[in-house]
Amino acid sequence: MYPSLPQDVARLAGHSEVRAAFGRFRFEEAQFAQWQIEVSRVAAPPFGEAARSAWLADRFRELGLADVEVDEVGNVFGVRPGYGGRSVALSAHIDTVFPATTPLNIRQQGSRLYGPGVSDNGAGIAALLAVASVLSSSKISHALPFVFIGNVGEEGEGDLRGMRHVFQQSRWSDAIAYSVIIDGAGSDTVVSEALGSRRFEVIARGPGGHSWSDFGTPNPIIVLARAIQALSETPVPTSPKTTFNVGVIRGGTSVNSIPETASIRVDLRSTSMAEIDRLERAMRIALDHAVDTENRPAASRGSRKNQFVQCEVIEIGNRPAGELAADARLLKVIRAVDAHFGNTAQVQRASTDANIPLSLGREAIAIGGGGSGGGAHTLQEWFDCNGRDLGLRRILLTMLALSGVGE
Ligand SMILES: [Zn+2]
Repeated sequence: MYPSLPQDVARLAGHSEVRAAFGRFRFEEAQFAQWQIEVSRVAAPPFGEAARSAWLADRFRELGLADVEVDEVGNVFGVRPGYGGRSVALSAHIDTVFPATTPLNIRQQGSRLYGPGVSDNGAGIAALLAVASVLSSSKISHALPFVFIGNVGEEGEGDLRGMRHVFQQSRWSDAIAYSVIIDGAGSDTVVSEALGSRRFEVIARGPGGHSWSDFGTPNPIIVLARAIQALSETPVPTSPKTTFNVGVIRGGTSVNSIPETASIRVDLRSTSMAEIDRLERAMRIALDHAVDTENRPAASRGSRKNQFVQCEVIEIGNRPAGELAADARLLKVIRAVDAHFGNTAQVQRASTDANIPLSLGREAIAIGGGGSGGGAHTLQEWFDCNGRDLGLRRILLTMLALSGVGE
């Protein structure tokens, strides 16, 4: 009979090489913190990650990973070979939300690290290196190869472009059986549901004119106001939770001018792609209707086309939704690993790099790199190294259980 998953996890955790690796997670903390500080000092704004890609590729080579390469968008890959066909991917995004001009004043006080990006995703990158590092001096042989990935473009306007690129290349997409994504600090969450979002900029343009002498000319601000009103009345389900927001509005020149342009930014979110599609249709219908209503007087006067308002809808973000099936092996494995360590973790729904594999029906989770942290996306960000080793043991044991280990 085959051993049950909890038995298998306990057997792996008791393996002498695995126990030695667990010990090193504690003894080598100073090195992990050092890497975390170093990488956080290399700026990595959205679309400007090249220096950090190069830094990480150097570390991967130092740690003896095979086939180290940086792809055309800046994703960094390194492999620890196994003897199976498909791979377990361990990834961390390397980009930050901070513009290139942000001073990267990273400092350490006792067990705490301070500075922008130190936790999100300095903690993830440090975890990647910590796992690669303990494996580099270990005789553990695992069946499935491990692919270590530092990917670009997770934050904001990056729109998951790094992970999207990984899964657009058949070489990686076909090879990766499981994706374990490390994002930020902590050991107490499992993101297995991908919150989808679609974002738009809507620009309304018209001829403009004088508020008095050109009265009756179609007004882009009024078009958008009408559309916002209609969108705001669109019913959305509470399950699957679905939301919309108009977050930015701009336009006009002066109080006595009919504006030539106005624009809004709209954010639609749901765990269901069908609901996002439905909301997008409702938004487009609201816009078409608002444009028609505003142009009607000009149309009845027989005005020329260039006297009408027109709307342009530009998609500025698209994160696909998805979720891990309740009986997915990856979910069973992380649960067995957490039970083994007596660790309590909450299943969460969020927007992470896991959106891409999950939306493709692939097995993926996002978890933390251990320790604790706070102030993400602010200059006051911090990370506390205490308890990092639990997060690292959790990651390694999950990878080994997914892969299978030879004796
Ligand atoms: Zn992050």
